[in-house]
Amino acid sequence: MSRGLIVILLLLGVLWLLAPPARQKERPPQGDRMGFLNEKFDPFVLPGGAGSTVDPIARADADTEAADALREGQRLLQAGNPGAAVAMFEKAAAGGIWEAALGLAESYRESRESDLALEIIHEAAIDHGDDPRVWMLMGEIYFGKGEFALAIDAWETVMKLRPTPELADRIRQTQVEMNLRDRYRDDLSRHFAPRFEGPVLDRTVHDVAKALEDAYLAVGLELGYYPTERTEVVLYTEESFYDVTRAPSWAEGVYDGVIRLPAVGAESDLDTLRRVAVHEYAHAVVTGLAGEKAPSWVQEGVAMNMESVPPPYTWARDTLLAEDVVPLTAEELGTPFGGLAEEQVSLAYAESYVVFQYLLAHYGTYKVHDMLRAMNDESVEDAMDRAFDIDLQTAIDLSMQELRSKETPGWQRS
Ligand SMILES: [Zn+2]
Repeated sequence: MSRGLIVILLLLGVLWLLAPPARQKERPPQGDRMGFLNEKFDPFVLPGGAGSTVDPIARADADTEAADALREGQRLLQAGNPGAAVAMFEKAAAGGIWEAALGLAESYRESRESDLALEIIHEAAIDHGDDPRVWMLMGEIYFGKGEFALAIDAWETVMKLRPTPELADRIRQTQVEMNLRDRYRDDLSRHFAPRFEGPVLDRTVHDVAKALEDAYLAVGLELGYYPTERTEVVLYTEESFYDVTRAPSWAEGVYDGVIRLPAVGAESDLDTLRRVAVHEYAHAVVTGLAGEKAPSWVQEGVAMNMESVPPPYTWARDTLLAEDVVPLTAEELGTPFGGLAEEQVSLAYAESYVVFQYLLAHYGTYKVHDMLRAMNDESVEDAMDRAFDIDLQTAIDLSMQELRSKETPGWQRS
């Protein structure tokens, strides 16, 4: 595994244990700007409900099996199951229905495989460039990747073939968004340099900037560190976040030298956005203080304790004191989390969390700051010894002992 990947795995902003089961992402109305983001995209129909020049279903009636496969693929796609739709569209394509390429490309787009989707749609454009739906979908894929200029190019081809007021409006909105992006890049935030990979909404950008500036002050106050250089932040659509970072689906954010956040969709859940912003920014602060050497348990332990709404103590207790659970040893906890077995990862997060809760409660933020600073020139062991006069195994034992005997945590954020 490459070092970069390990670092990314280490720093995943993960509170997946607490994550409620697949939340319904609700998107509140955004006013007239970018309102089309709320609509379910149908690759077989043009905006405004304009049909196509060719009805694939009618034309495919000759080959019943292929037509059935196409209909089934469309049904699966509408039902939100693009993974299963792929096989159906492939069958329809093999049966001679070229329009199946639209469904196939859309299925890949929805499965966060934009590059594959682009390949298919560009190929379809060679022979079927006279069908506006090909260009419509191409624009949609580029738009999802945040490539606004290319999206507009593709949509302008649709406008030549089959103009609709809906699409004209979408192009106009995307141009406005593109201009806003350029402006924000320069003067959005004092301490953060945001970039965008995708159609991030005006209001969301403000929310994220506010959340990060709050994190700058709150984490700075706790850990006594305020970076002088602006921290880089990339905001993604959910699709491109998982596409680009290759983060597992339970990750809420990533810090790999750059804070990476899925921002679209987050507008409906501001509390999560704020919590994740603090968590990822805390990773930036730990790295700023300790350099690259801070191990996973330090990174995650500090970051979770800094969160605006830290994980509930009961979660850690339930995880660590569950029947048959043996807490990780210092040696195990000291390995990069990316190298741990899957069932050990949740344990590692919970344990890091309570160890730092213990250290913060008994030694204070100042000593944690000392430890992080010392890590620049010393081993983790020496840095820990210097700040707390105990080693990691002792800290684990003491925090576990406290966990067993107490109902409430000792560390409360001031
Ligand atoms: Zn993290």
